[in-house]
Amino acid sequence: MLHLKRVAQNNLARAARRSASRGLATAAEPYDVVVVGGGPGGYVAAIKAAQLGLRTACIEKRGALGGTCLNVGCIPSKAMLNNSHLYHQAQHDFARRGIDATVSLNLPKMLEAKTNAVTGLTKGIEILFKQNKVDYIKGSASFVSSTRLAISPISEAPEGAPTEVEAKNIIIATGSEVSPFPGGAITIDEKQIVSSTGALELQQVPKKMVVIGGGIIGLEMGSVWSRLGAEVTVVEFLGAIGGAGIDEEVAKTFQRILGKQGLKFKLNTKVLSAEQKDGKVYLEAEPAKGGKSETLEADVVLVAVGRRPYTEGLNIEAAGVEKDNRGRIVIDDQFTTSQKHIKCIGDVTFGPMLAHKAEEEGIAAAEFIKSGHGHVNYAAIPSVVYTHPEVAWVGKTEQELKAEGVKYKIGKFSFAANSRAKTNLDTEGFVKIIVEAETDRILGAHIIGPNAGEMISEAVLALEYGASSEDVARTCHAHPTLSEAFKEAAMAASGKPIHM
Ligand SMILES: Cc1cc2nc3c(=O)[nH]c(=O)nc-3n(C[C@H](O)[C@H](O)[C@H](O)COP(=O)(O)OP(=O)(O)OC[C@H]3O[C@@H](n4cnc5c(N)ncnc54)[C@H](O)[C@@H]3O)c2cc1C
Repeated sequence: MLHLKRVAQNNLARAARRSASRGLATAAEPYDVVVVGGGPGGYVAAIKAAQLGLRTACIEKRGALGGTCLNVGCIPSKAMLNNSHLYHQAQHDFARRGIDATVSLNLPKMLEAKTNAVTGLTKGIEILFKQNKVDYIKGSASFVSSTRLAISPISEAPEGAPTEVEAKNIIIATGSEVSPFPGGAITIDEKQIVSSTGALELQQVPKKMVVIGGGIIGLEMGSVWSRLGAEVTVVEFLGAIGGAGIDEEVAKTFQRILGKQGLKFKLNTKVLSAEQKDGKVYLEAEPAKGGKSETLEADVVLVAVGRRPYTEGLNIEAAGVEKDNRGRIVIDDQFTTSQKHIKCIGDVTFGPMLAHKAEEEGIAAAEFIKSGHGHVNYAAIPSVVYTHPEVAWVGKTEQELKAEGVKYKIGKFSFAANSRAKTNLDTEGFVKIIVEAETDRILGAHIIGPNAGEMISEAVLALEYGASSEDVARTCHAHPTLSEAFKEAAMAASGKPIHM
């Protein structure tokens, strides 16, 4: 027993020497903050903590910073969305604009452009870490105690032998992973039955693709491969597409527009199983309420049924940190876990799984550690679907307000009446602003149309400042811009629009 204790002490001493030789903090000199996970939550928290004068390290096991968002999420999907849109436009839209062109798809080059965007941005974070004096530790972190983390080496940094760091404060930002198909009836092989990660790497355009799940990721990736030539069918258990929080009217318009683009939809339909045979996948599906089943054939199936919190290998039990029954780390309104010096942010805890939500929490968590004050306004977190047209929303939907018994008014303006949209031959969609009937305060904004993802920031700002629709209506907007549609929708809510 005594011998084992001495071995353990020697190991700790060796780890401390190794840490010290790498310039890392030791038990004698712990970090003020160690962030576990270098995704948008973790890397932003680390930079903010360092900017606030706290001695900070960030541990990341992926071999690259940026997390899901930069490596296999927001950024690569947006690269593919942008470039597939251009290809599709060149094929189907250029002629009416007076541009005669023959284009062909160079998929390897398109994938390379995506990879270059990812690499450039992830390397950029390393530079930001250096500029802000954040120690970047490449390795996999695991709690030894509530203040100490063991770090195992990863293949991208084999020189980093197992070592440990000690921290006064720890921020867990380990993110999320793809949810497997419920009940294990379908196994993802990332070749023919893929998750979003595999869908970003397909080496050829499938002839037929079935997307299981009509949420944001399914619709974005379905759009990409549809534009590149695949026949895409989206199967959705619910009766509407777009996922949680989308306005019902927007969801209907969205489905109609995507339908015109060639996507097919099977709503209220439940996929039961998949069989791979002779190079094809055969999915068995039935009505969500039960009934006669049917078989859907596909060359590639995308399973996009959601993501779940990720804590594998983190050994949070050793830290005494609690999870709920859905695997989310439990926190209070200051991001504090069941251990008061351990905070948690981003996808691995409550709230929408969005990069900008994780970033806001990262900043607030660092501020709480430094000063005891921080703030995230969960009522003003926008959602965006980066299809074409884009769909974006923030705040309350009509259906939520009805359920809450709140009296509201609506101001709507169609892009068909917006001069810039007309000039751009891109007029589908509308802006819908919902205001409180009595006070005119903006409660929500729902946009489907060109550049909706940029325009929604105006609505977020309005919500943050408690603006009324009249405030927005009386604010000068440059002409000719798409955002004039936002002003006109505000005019419609507080009075009458000029151009409709
Ligand atoms: C296809 C796709 C498209 C998306 N598009 C958008 C979008 O357009 N806009 C948007 O807002 N969101 C989007 N998201 C969601 C977004 O990517 C996530 O919400 C965001 O990345 C969450 O950030 P995070 O920091 O909480 O976690 P992550 O980004 O998941 O980062 C966690 C990091 O922690 C590391 N880690 C885990 N465990 C350990 C450990 N023990 N030791 C060391 N490191 C560890 C992981 O390797 C990972 O890099 C998309 C997601 C996908 C999959």
